[in-house]
Amino acid sequence: MVEAVAVSKRFGGNEVLTSISLRVERGQVMCVIGPSGSGKSTFLRCINHLEVVDAGRLYVDGELVGYRERGDKLYELKPAEAARQRRDIGMVFQHFNLFPHMTALENIAEAPTTVKGMSRRDALERGRDLLARVGLASHAGHYPSQLSGGQQQRVAIARALAMDPKLMLFDEPTSALDPELVGEVLDVMRELADTGMTMVVVTHEMGFAREVGDAMVFLDGGVVVESGAPRELLANPQHERTKAFLSKVL
Ligand code: ATP
Ligand code: MG
Repeated sequence: MVEAVAVSKRFGGNEVLTSISLRVERGQVMCVIGPSGSGKSTFLRCINHLEVVDAGRLYVDGELVGYRERGDKLYELKPAEAARQRRDIGMVFQHFNLFPHMTALENIAEAPTTVKGMSRRDALERGRDLLARVGLASHAGHYPSQLSGGQQQRVAIARALAMDPKLMLFDEPTSALDPELVGEVLDVMRELADTGMTMVVVTHEMGFAREVGDAMVFLDGGVVVESGAPRELLANPQHERTKAFLSKVL
């Protein structure tokens, strides 16, 4: 579902990702770990074409992200085409990013009506289903300021799902939450994984990674230092950098 082939990305003179190659199969949960500044968010943003890669190729569902191939030349996609690609990819951020002036239900119904042209009635009905799915059926009329962090994040997940994404990206979805609220968000993510959703999850929740992750990569300094099954990688890290990182977070 996601294939990165020698993806590199620089900001000015600073190379942030260096020749990243990895595959995420359909239905898999890929966990991405690594120290601050290692390029985790940048990599997710490249998958979503919020950042343009400088070298290498990224494919989502077999389609080249951000470019059109013609012969052996690449042409950058027009904004409308890039937006169409991005529409199929849900993204959940550390800081929820809900619309503060809209209720939980309105947050969820917004994009399906404005972007997909769904009728308001259908979008609201679907929104209610999604709210129920994340355990918030009774909070439809609450504004973000009236919800806990964990509830806001669950609304953010429901909002992403409302666009029927084929891939979900999570960028440290629980790291801004009070510890007692982390579990409710991870539970929703676990249920989502059980439905067969393909997910790329940047997280420091190693318990989640071990139980739910199918694959894991450790990024450091913009390179994939090590990858493998989470259980294996966490129990038996092969590289000194991985060992040093895990000794700090486990
Ligand atoms: P964290 O765990 O703190 O979220 P990260 O692994 O997600 O870190 P990134 O946010 O991807 O790391 O950043 C990687 C590097 O790229 C950092 O050195 C950062 O300063 C740099 N960087 C990220 N975005 C930009 C940008 N828009 N312009 C310039 N430099 C950037
Ligand atoms: Mg980050």
